Amino acid sequence: MSVDSFFERLLAGRWIAGPLIEDAIRRARMLNRKGIGAILNYLGEDFADKDDVDLSVHKYLKLIDAIHGAKVRADVSVKPTQIGLAISYAYASANYSKILERARKYHTFVWLDMESHGYVDDTIRLYLEHLERGNRKDTGICVQSYLRRSGSDVKRIVKAWGIIRLVKGAYKESAAMAYANRAETTANYAKLMKYLFGNSGRFTIATHDTSLIDSARALNAARHKDVTYAMLNGIKDGYARELASGRENVYVYVPFGERWVDYSVRRLRELSNALLIVRSLFSR
Ligand SMILES: Cc1cc2nc3c(=O)[nH]c(=O)nc-3n(C[C@H](O)[C@H](O)[C@H](O)COP(=O)(O)OP(=O)(O)OC[C@H]3O[C@@H](n4cnc5c(N)ncnc54)[C@H](O)[C@@H]3O)c2cc1C
Repeated sequence: MSVDSFFERLLAGRWIAGPLIEDAIRRARMLNRKGIGAILNYLGEDFADKDDVDLSVHKYLKLIDAIHGAKVRADVSVKPTQIGLAISYAYASANYSKILERARKYHTFVWLDMESHGYVDDTIRLYLEHLERGNRKDTGICVQSYLRRSGSDVKRIVKAWGIIRLVKGAYKESAAMAYANRAETTANYAKLMKYLFGNSGRFTIATHDTSLIDSARALNAARHKDVTYAMLNGIKDGYARELASGRENVYVYVPFGERWVDYSVRRLRELSNALLIVRSLFSR
């Protein structure tokens, strides 16, 4: 094994539960014991091959059964292109339906992740069309504050009584689509978050930015909304536990599956310097 792949595996072990559904369930159970819910994601995206898509859909159905069987407190989070959105809208819609139908049986909450900007319109359409067919309470969608369009997307989704998970955004986007710097992305996050506090009853603040979380908690002291805080596995685990013990509703997003390299590389790109890598490895 090369030094690079040794390093990648070491990091991946921190962020990813393991290759199997059983690994994901075990991680969810560990989180539950600390008062934290899990958001489980089977790794994989950008599938152009129907075999890959069918396997992913099958994994999600089995995962939902396993969550129910193990009685763990866990949502699932699905990437639109892993259920076929890069192949066709109709195919992705049929697959999303299958997952929602299984989830409805056990009241498992299903999130749609948000991917690069080319998929945003279809992902919102997928979400809203299925909301209208009656999965309103147990489905949610991610919105990215770095996209210039997100203000109007948030309004549209809230108006339809959708449930939003607000993130900053993880893909490389052009300046025409997205705010170029962190400060603008963070300012837009704060603005969208305020809008959610004013206009939505239930939403998720998904960030490791403690100043945004502090602002959200201050806003909620007056408003008492159904707010959940969510973080990625392995990034601020100690802080997530602190929040949960302070009676906040906290979830940790836990990827699992065989395709850990892409995910690890994305997390590594977010680390702006070596100090953060070290912090990510050794801080708890
Ligand atoms: C629950 C959840 C679901 C998500 N779903 C999506 C999605 O569907 N689509 C999407 O595009 N993005 C998603 N993301 C990723 C998100 O868009 C950001 O890329 C990621 O959360 C980093 O942004 P931040 O809000 O934490 O703020 P940042 O400003 O990036 O980070 C704030 C602070 O957190 C710490 N930190 C952040 N990242 C790391 C790291 N990798 N290692 C160590 N410390 C770190 C640092 O202390 C940093 O100063 C999700 C994030 C979460 C938490």
